[in-house]
Amino acid sequence: MKKTFTAVFFWVLLLAAAYYVFWGRHLYRITAYCNCPICINEPRYRDGKFASGKKIYWGGVASDPSLRFGSKVELVPLWPSDWNGVIRFLKGRTSFTVEDRGGKIKGKAIDIFIPDSRGGHKQARKWGVRWMRIKVNGVFAP
Ligand SMILES: [Zn+2]
Repeated sequence: MKKTFTAVFFWVLLLAAAYYVFWGRHLYRITAYCNCPICINEPRYRDGKFASGKKIYWGGVASDPSLRFGSKVELVPLWPSDWNGVIRFLKGRTSFTVEDRGGKIKGKAIDIFIPDSRGGHKQARKWGVRWMRIKVNGVFAP
């Protein structure tokens, strides 16, 4: 009994260390927003356009200025709860394009635009804050 406990304990420790080294420390903070006064508090930014100048569309996301407009961002869900969120709130979509910026979006963070036709604010609220790795233009972001 004691031997089993020790073995399990070390396996869990090893897996946790592996997760930290290879995956967990590269996570991005993934949030969602819509075109409403709560999500975009500056009226002049609620003009129906992204910061890139393009008309707002489903598939655009906001990022830190370190990612250029037009960069392809792919979410890489790992845990079942992450997949569940992607399937329920993004209809399974994982590929997005950087089109927007935000004052509060700094560092390793992505803010997904949810148009009203896809549930808007309600869906963005339900998405909440999730932590996932991303690929930028096909390469895992550090
Ligand atoms: Zn909103």
